[in-house]
Amino acid sequence: MLRISSLSASRLHDLRKFSNVIRRGKSTSNKVELTQVRYPKLKRGGFATLNDRHLTTFKNILPGRVLTSETDDLELFNTDWLRTVRGNSSVVLRPKTTEEISEILKFCNQEKLAVCPQGGNTGLVGGSVPVFDEVILSTSLMKKIDLIDTDSGVVVCEAGCILEDLDNALKDKGLMMPLDLGAKGSCQIGGNISTNAGGLRLLRYGSMHANTLGLIAVKADGTIVDSLSCLKKDNTGYALHHLFIGSEGTLGVVTKVAIQCPPAPKAVSLMFLGLKDFESVLKTTQKAKHLLGEILSSCELMDLECADAVEENMKIKLPLEKMPFYVILESSGSNSAHDEEKLNTFLEVVMGEGLVIDGTVITEPSRIKSVWHIRECIAEALLRDGYVYKYDITLPARNFYDLVPFFNDKVKEAGAIRCCGFGHLGDGNVHFNVTSSEFSYNLLGLIEPLIYEWTSKHRGSVSAEHGIGLKKKEFLKYSKSEAAIEVMRGIKSVLDPNGILNPYKVLPSIAE
Ligand code: FAD
Repeated sequence: MLRISSLSASRLHDLRKFSNVIRRGKSTSNKVELTQVRYPKLKRGGFATLNDRHLTTFKNILPGRVLTSETDDLELFNTDWLRTVRGNSSVVLRPKTTEEISEILKFCNQEKLAVCPQGGNTGLVGGSVPVFDEVILSTSLMKKIDLIDTDSGVVVCEAGCILEDLDNALKDKGLMMPLDLGAKGSCQIGGNISTNAGGLRLLRYGSMHANTLGLIAVKADGTIVDSLSCLKKDNTGYALHHLFIGSEGTLGVVTKVAIQCPPAPKAVSLMFLGLKDFESVLKTTQKAKHLLGEILSSCELMDLECADAVEENMKIKLPLEKMPFYVILESSGSNSAHDEEKLNTFLEVVMGEGLVIDGTVITEPSRIKSVWHIRECIAEALLRDGYVYKYDITLPARNFYDLVPFFNDKVKEAGAIRCCGFGHLGDGNVHFNVTSSEFSYNLLGLIEPLIYEWTSKHRGSVSAEHGIGLKKKEFLKYSKSEAAIEVMRGIKSVLDPNGILNPYKVLPSIAE
């Protein structure tokens, strides 16, 4: 029976309070193997090595805001969130203004020092940390909100603003960020734009390409490119800001942004549904899109292995009994009576047709947050198994879940703990994950490149929203033609002829 009621207190008492504190996997005490050791084919480019003169210049530009390995622990800046790659940088620069970034890059470019731009360091493809000894340029001190324009629904702010802080500031003015994701308590808007982050509500509000009105970026030679338009319509030649969106720090450093923000919804409801098979998942999604229409704001999936990871590793109990699949549907509107009518029709249909076995509808904001937390902490729950092989694939709806049965037996026989799928069902974006107690070349070899060949065969994308970074650059060819990759190289060489910005990332190595 479907419970069209609030979640019972007894079911919820053990849901951890939503904290958004990003925590690391269980092996925090052990250092991650250096990237240059784990990936021995990577060769350091012909960049300069940091010396005392460089450090003195940095300290003059940024007094008191230069961290060095001699005096500070730089491990968190050198290691990615997933604990899969580790660089060996001995300096972190913490500018506060666009002009300071311009001065730093101008100097680095003259000196041929490689630079790794870093936001909240929650990226999942090894793009946010150095590969060798690149200078780390952190935007963490750039947190100013310049303007919230409630007439036009626009926020203008610095790149280091944390996504959740922005959302909270907007809420007070009746607006919201169009973007929401599990790392919102740590990721920064500059990082979101640089990865073209997707997240939980892309289905409704679109990507960063759709919502970024303008930005300021600094080129590798220090030139400040001011494209900070706040206008919804602006057809004045090339839309330069789009070049920097999703460029993962390889074309410039984003310092300031203007984002289109929708009104915060007045009525939000969440449905947590249990389903017996993927065919029912597909049909339920279709019904949701048709019957909920414009109020559907999110459509997410998790399978039983993900649910088990959350229960076992995070000690969070799910609001439903065990089911092969769980779908989370969110509706956001401006009139609760209108939305309720639509939700009731939807529920009658999916229950009547036997598509949904069990479920609950939640309208109370604190409980909505708790249930969202279940979905948002899957990544952390899987990481607590030890090591995660993480893939972020877009596929046609019908093939959304095929990767799991395709790989399950192969990887489990080779020692995998879990082989599971979750993700943004409404956008066809599956997060396929395999976990093991520690990194294994054997498991990696079983999954790659097969997963990318399989994805290409099904005309999917090898990176739906996480980007290419270091880990996927050799697999870009499965989603982009040779000609397209050549155009990308051409753009890179125009904007960063010395290749100092985030080298070894995004563009595939050139065969020797
Ligand atoms: P970082 O990780 O610091 O950097 C990411 C990339 O952007 C790097 O290549 C870096 O060099 C570059 N960069 C950062 N700041 C700048 C700048 N100012 N200028 C130029 N380049 C810059 N991603 C999604 O798309 N959808 C999700 O649902 C999602 N969920 C996640 C859940 C969890 C628990 C975690 C840990 C990650 C998740 N991610 C998701 C991935 C990640 O959070 C996003 O990619 C996020 O946008 C990265 O922001 P960041 O500030 O942490 O950037």
